[in-house]
Amino acid sequence: MTIRVIGAGLAGATVAHLLHQAGRRVEVLEGDPTWGGQLRTASAGGILYEPAGAHIFHTSDTAVWQLVTGLVEMLPYRHAVRTEAFDRVLSWPPQLSELRELPQWATVERELASRPAVPRADNFESWCVGLMGETLYHEFIEGYTRKQWGEDPKNLTAAWAPKRIELREDGYRDLFRDPHQGWPSGGYPKLLDALLREVPVVMGQRVTIDDWEDVCAGADAIVVTCALDEFFASHLGALPWRGVRLVNHYLPGVDHVLPCGVLNTPSPLKPHTRAIETKWMSGQTEPGTVVSYEYPGAPARHYPIDDVAGANRALARRYLDELAALPGPPRFVAGRLATYTYIDMDQVIRQGINTARRVLEALG
Ligand SMILES: Cc1cc2nc3c(=O)[nH]c(=O)nc-3n(C[C@H](O)[C@H](O)[C@H](O)COP(=O)(O)OP(=O)(O)OC[C@H]3O[C@@H](n4cnc5c(N)ncnc54)[C@H](O)[C@@H]3O)c2cc1C
Repeated sequence: MTIRVIGAGLAGATVAHLLHQAGRRVEVLEGDPTWGGQLRTASAGGILYEPAGAHIFHTSDTAVWQLVTGLVEMLPYRHAVRTEAFDRVLSWPPQLSELRELPQWATVERELASRPAVPRADNFESWCVGLMGETLYHEFIEGYTRKQWGEDPKNLTAAWAPKRIELREDGYRDLFRDPHQGWPSGGYPKLLDALLREVPVVMGQRVTIDDWEDVCAGADAIVVTCALDEFFASHLGALPWRGVRLVNHYLPGVDHVLPCGVLNTPSPLKPHTRAIETKWMSGQTEPGTVVSYEYPGAPARHYPIDDVAGANRALARRYLDELAALPGPPRFVAGRLATYTYIDMDQVIRQGINTARRVLEALG
């Protein structure tokens, strides 16, 4: 008997790898002609870049870090982000020590002094203004958020703001505080190759409900990591996503263009949201670089849209119920698409570890 895994992104690859290691027969069905999902690293003139979006590995989960570093060499990259604001290039998250140097500091200071004790979590905007006041919100966050989401920030949930938005006083310059951070030597395909090297994978086979009987044939468990609205032909309605598009500039002979790996551009006057120079992550020293400009609003399933009313999440739950109600062997879901959540790579690997364990428990 076989365990079938739908999708060969990081989630499906992690589950398949662990089940194979546990001595189970596994088969992965991947819709694209190549595996990896969001994790793509390309090369131009020998310079690595990420055409589907920058990925920084960071985690506090020691088991996840051990799994990854047991498979690939992780370069010791720690992620720092800067942002264009007040006609300067400043730290992101904003640092009070830098803000005190601005001509606008008197206004900012007054607004900070009149903040509520706890930011109001009615919506994304109320939370951010409660944390940093109107002026900083407008300069650092509002334009970026409107471009990124194509929405008034008042219509977005505050749920994920505390994890993403900070105002710093401690002088700590890395974006993430996780103890384990890095970027895989040679790029992310090395990680996917290491996970899937010993697992049979069929590529170019997009699975839908019409294939369910075939997927179940001879299988004693199914692991689903694909988008469920697409799988069910969107018959309850399509789940909305926000996507990005990258335009990648190869610049021969140039060492670096940006001051760090990512430069945010919140200005509403510029159409892109950020610029990325992967050479900072890869640590390459050869001449030449690639700068990727990220434009929002592409028709891609990148970021699920968390509306204030929670309607999208409710629709996602209905699709999960449909999957659970199908006949056939036990089935499990993992990854960002099937769960309709934005999750970082370490959370995806953690889901993969937990899912593999649940499959093994169910099969005895
Ligand atoms: C722009 C962007 C930047 C990001 N940056 C970071 C970062 O800096 N750090 C970080 O930790 N995380 C980051 N992430 C998150 C990270 O990309 C994801 O956590 C991870 O790649 C998700 O893996 P997955 O397997 O769940 O999904 P995916 O990578 O989407 O893989 C799903 C796979 O399933 C396949 N598939 C889909 N439908 C079907 C079907 N019907 N039949 C068969 N196969 C199917 C797809 O082709 C794909 O290969 C970022 C995400 C985005 C979008």
